[in-house]
Amino acid sequence: MIIKVIVIVLVCSKLDYSHSLPDIIRIGGLFAPLPNDDHQTTDPQEIAFKYAVEKINADNKILPRSKLHAEIERIMPQDSFHASKRVCHLMKTGVAAIFGPQSSHTASHVQSICDTMEIPHLETRWDYRLRRESCLVNLYPHPSTLSKAYVDLVNAWKWKSFTIIYETNEGLVRLQELLKAHGPSEFPITVRQLSDSGDYRPLLKQIKNSAESRIVLDCSTEKIYEVLKQAQQIGMMSDYHSYLITSLDLHTVNLEPFQYGGTNITALRLVDPENSLVRQTVKNWTASEPKSNKKINYGYDNASVIKAETALMYDAVHLFAKALHDLDTSQQIDIHPLSCDNQEPWPHGYSLINYMKIVEMRGLTDVIKFDHQGFRTDFVLDIIELSPNGLRKCGTWNSTSGVNLTRTYNDQQNEIKEILANKTLIVSTILSAPYCMRKQASQMLTGNDQFEGYAIDLINEISKILGFNYSIRLAPDGRYGSFNRETSEWDGMIKELLDQRADVAIADLTITYNREQVVDFTMPFMNLGISVLYRKPLKQPPNLFSFLSPLSLDVWVYMATAYLGVSVLLFILARFTPYEWPSTEQQEKVETQFTLLNCLWFAIGSLMQQGCDFLPKAPSTRMVAGMWWFFTLIMISSYTANLAAFLTVERMDSPIESAEDLAKQTKIKYGALKGGSTVSFFRDSNFSTYQRMWSFMESQRPSVFTSSNQEGVERVSKSKGSYAFLMESSSIEYIVERNCDLTQVGGMLDSKGYGIAMPQGSPYRTLISGAVLKLQEEGRLHLLKTRWWKEKRVLGSCRDDQSKSTSTANELGLANVGGVFVVLMGGMGIACVIAVCEFVWKSRKVAIEEKEISLCSEMASELRFAFKCSSKQRGQRSTQEGSSPNNVSDISDRFHPLGPPYAQYEFDSNKGHGIP
Ligand code: ASP
Repeated sequence: MIIKVIVIVLVCSKLDYSHSLPDIIRIGGLFAPLPNDDHQTTDPQEIAFKYAVEKINADNKILPRSKLHAEIERIMPQDSFHASKRVCHLMKTGVAAIFGPQSSHTASHVQSICDTMEIPHLETRWDYRLRRESCLVNLYPHPSTLSKAYVDLVNAWKWKSFTIIYETNEGLVRLQELLKAHGPSEFPITVRQLSDSGDYRPLLKQIKNSAESRIVLDCSTEKIYEVLKQAQQIGMMSDYHSYLITSLDLHTVNLEPFQYGGTNITALRLVDPENSLVRQTVKNWTASEPKSNKKINYGYDNASVIKAETALMYDAVHLFAKALHDLDTSQQIDIHPLSCDNQEPWPHGYSLINYMKIVEMRGLTDVIKFDHQGFRTDFVLDIIELSPNGLRKCGTWNSTSGVNLTRTYNDQQNEIKEILANKTLIVSTILSAPYCMRKQASQMLTGNDQFEGYAIDLINEISKILGFNYSIRLAPDGRYGSFNRETSEWDGMIKELLDQRADVAIADLTITYNREQVVDFTMPFMNLGISVLYRKPLKQPPNLFSFLSPLSLDVWVYMATAYLGVSVLLFILARFTPYEWPSTEQQEKVETQFTLLNCLWFAIGSLMQQGCDFLPKAPSTRMVAGMWWFFTLIMISSYTANLAAFLTVERMDSPIESAEDLAKQTKIKYGALKGGSTVSFFRDSNFSTYQRMWSFMESQRPSVFTSSNQEGVERVSKSKGSYAFLMESSSIEYIVERNCDLTQVGGMLDSKGYGIAMPQGSPYRTLISGAVLKLQEEGRLHLLKTRWWKEKRVLGSCRDDQSKSTSTANELGLANVGGVFVVLMGGMGIACVIAVCEFVWKSRKVAIEEKEISLCSEMASELRFAFKCSSKQRGQRSTQEGSSPNNVSDISDRFHPLGPPYAQYEFDSNKGHGIP
């Protein structure tokens, strides 16, 4: 800002000095020497420099009255002494600016001389220093800004982990921001250096073995081709590999050998060859070449490509010319020879530098603008990627809005679909019924025809949707895939994917967290859980006392108690109630028919549904009898019904009903498939039951683990109940449909799914996932399951068997028949209340009749009489009460004799009264 103000003031105050430039303005250029072996080759920087001078001289809008003259000096990249001498020589000729050199060794010497002499120094090379000399203008974007672009790109792609391959230490500086952004706290990244030997294969093999598929490559543009070629040789240029190349000149590399492999190769570029200005410039440039009779060394035989630094040199000359032109309008510029010896600086140097820093123009590298520190700002980088048709622009990056990818998700998917349609995918699987089985045939089968099963049908359906071909290969070790902690390696189908020997793994392969870390899974195509495969429960041998089974022991005990209780209550109430006593008239002895023994007999007679030869007469005792009959009716009916069920149903005996039962015992051994997700579930579980089960399984000798599901099933079949196999429910379902001796015990211990696995970063995952979903929604997956689980069954079905064994009879517990006991107890209570009423009623009646006796004394005498346990007689009233002989008839009135032999009447003639 301050500089701008100063310049504006200068412009306004010195308008009268305009157009004072000399006719010839010399500018010095320091370039690499011509190689000895090929004198026909010229440094493209030099050509660009000369061409820019030519172009400006031909343009009468910039510096119309003066001509630029290029003074070229060629210096060795390491020779700073010679470089200093050449710069001093240039100063002596009177140059207005020095351009170059590209070598960092000589550049600092040139820079210090320019600083002392205050001659503008224009550079176009990579320079990481944050503080730069005052006379320097570098058109190359600062590495920290470029580094930010790489970070933005990696974040936009959501790369979790990647490997950085760098060539020199400068590369690490270039990638500083990337290293900072993905430090150890995030996903760790690997950094490896390219060897000087030129053989990068050992390094690349190491990266391949680490299963890394995302690579940031930082090396000189000349080496990119060789590194990629060697990567291709060791199989690191597949569909699953992604390369981010930090060179801004990838478009100058011959990428034809890699463009059909499907590898994701991306880079940034500063110069857009499609830009009209660039196209025009390069066209004129190449057209002017034959004149010079020299060939430009582009590093690649396509003359239409232009390196970033070459374009920057062209832009640097234009920037200088524009700034000088502007400065010329504001002050008188005198360009004269300078001597390094007397160190007298050029007075216009700083003004020209300041003008250059505020100039805003468009060049081959688009907008040329500098910030207050003198670094390029507001420039745009193209994001380019390799496609089957060569490199193409897929987005842009700029420092304010970051990455802007122009290709939509749909475009990408459509392109991947096209690529997939021409591919033959290698499908890894293992033999596991009914997912993949060998086909039985009379003739020799080859290729995919050898196999059949659910997984084979599934991949076939998917291939029809997406149009790819496939070739099925069995995983050599026949395993699903588990991580061996000792060797730090995966095995089975997962290893096939990691080693890129297969593109897809399809089987009853469970989606697990550990596997998901190294491969990509599609949506699950089947849901399941771990369960127990065990032999079917055995029939129980007939039991001698099975007639007791319909009722539980509790109920039997309660029934016996109820029987005794009711008998005793009947006995008590029969004594208590006056209506249960026979008439004493003409009888010597009165006694109720409900003696204790008779009560027991009465109750058992009713319980057995046989009846009895005497019956209660009083309402209270009838109430007791009624309730007891009700109770017996319900109990006997329930017993009979349940007995019928017990006699028709076979009793099954299973020692285990669930996985918890397995954990509780040690007699029945149990195991699972070695190296499978089931074993991992128990090994990694936090639940104490499963941890206990895992310790048990591990401690068993011989091992309880099997190498295939088939082996586990055979072991269960042969073990006669001493072995249970922990297996996935879908496979159990398949087994129990065919093997009638086996069954699933208990429910599922977890819930998970089978998925199709692919190498990490596979571009086909989304498409294959979509195809799986489509098949699911169309009901095709269900049809496939029915086909392989139910329809393709061997003769003989276990289904009838199953339906038989599913109906069971259970003994009736107190919970089932408790209500009857409650009703009985209620009835007994009511009977007691009625008995009390009867007693009071009768006592009152007697008391009224025998006027001289009070109700209370009558009740007391009756009570005494009823509960005098030693006597079973009930006669006339006691003498103490002074009753007349008439009382006999009174008492006899109270009772209703049944007649002999049930009632005995006893009359004590000595006392004249029926005394108890
Ligand atoms: N389907 C399982 C797996 O993918 C095998 C098993 O453990 O039962 O590992």
